[in-house]
Amino acid sequence: MSEKVILTGDRPTGRLHIGHYVGSLRRRVELQNSGEYKNIFVMIADAQALTDNAHEPEKVRQNIVEVALDYLACGIDPEKTNILIQSQIPELTELTFYYMNLVTVARVQRNPTVKAEIQLRNFEVGIPVGFFTYPISQASDITAFKATTVPVGEDQEPMIEQTREIVRKFNSVYGETLVEPEIMLPEDESCLRLPGTDGGAKMSKSLGNCIYLASDSDEIKKKVMSMFTDPGHLKVEDPGKVEGNTVFQYLDAFSNDDFFAEYCPDYRNLDEMKDHYRRGGLGDVKVKKFLNNVLQETLKPIRERRHEFEKDIPYIYEVLKKGTEVSREVAASTLHEVKDAMKINYFDDRALIEEQAERYGNNPVGAANA
Ligand code: ATP
Ligand code: MG
Repeated sequence: MSEKVILTGDRPTGRLHIGHYVGSLRRRVELQNSGEYKNIFVMIADAQALTDNAHEPEKVRQNIVEVALDYLACGIDPEKTNILIQSQIPELTELTFYYMNLVTVARVQRNPTVKAEIQLRNFEVGIPVGFFTYPISQASDITAFKATTVPVGEDQEPMIEQTREIVRKFNSVYGETLVEPEIMLPEDESCLRLPGTDGGAKMSKSLGNCIYLASDSDEIKKKVMSMFTDPGHLKVEDPGKVEGNTVFQYLDAFSNDDFFAEYCPDYRNLDEMKDHYRRGGLGDVKVKKFLNNVLQETLKPIRERRHEFEKDIPYIYEVLKKGTEVSREVAASTLHEVKDAMKINYFDDRALIEEQAERYGNNPVGAANA
């Protein structure tokens, strides 16, 4: 088997939404089932969530099980994937502390995702230090498991780049120890960053512009029917714009030719539907109804599986506990290697003690006990 290892995760700041699904979750399940990976770690990043939710620990605490339920509902299989809780692996925090020395403040300040998130959270006047350094903590999460592959959405690109820099720096200063990971972005461009139902740049738990994996069918329909389209497309006959039109962006991410055959046989595929919309003569309501059908069919089995798992919450915690235990062993072993490489291993390093004893003219070490 290959040595390929996956690490990825989500912040427990809310239930998972369909942006997570197309940006990362759907792919994770495929990768999990491909059998190509030696180890897969999926992390619930509660410590990271606390960096910008320090005053809402209850929110983070309650959402851990929600995220875990969403994982299982989507097909993450605890027999094949370790699901772990970040805060329960203190080795991750310890790694972060050492990596911090390899990164400058200016370098973190340049990170475009951190910049955007600072603005979003109105942190301009006072950025929590923990939040500011979360890209470094993310490097610990990735390297602790020697991940080769990190399947995530586009907003994570700067984090993976930061991680790669830390790995290169660490290895050049302390010797070859860490593994440089590769980002794995969604294959389809439409899935890189799914917009919010409000037409906002990104569907995000923190913005409340989401269709959740757990949303019931009425809620999905309501959100779809009230979605933004092309503001210039007032009458059915008007030519419409497809680019930047949220409904079409969702169709790009979710529809396929089978859905057309089943729910909208006037068109063979999305290109034909788009052409008609551009020409004029295709109303928003028809497009939205189609999107609604596509989403309903995609989300129904996920929601039903979720309901099954909801019946046994203690089992979910068993899964999390076991996944965390297994993961912690891996992280502890990496931390050990890191500290060895950095020579922070005083008690294990006989040569160090002997050398210093000799310098001070001690009797040969051990002689006293002989
Ligand atoms: P928060 O608002 O708390 O940051 P979030 O909705 O951004 O929450 P995260 O937990 O930060 O979700 O992201 C988890 C994963 O989902 C990451 O890999 C991220 O790239 C991906 N992701 C999040 N939102 C989207 C989206 N709208 N489209 C595609 N991928 C997304
Ligand atoms: Mg986010």
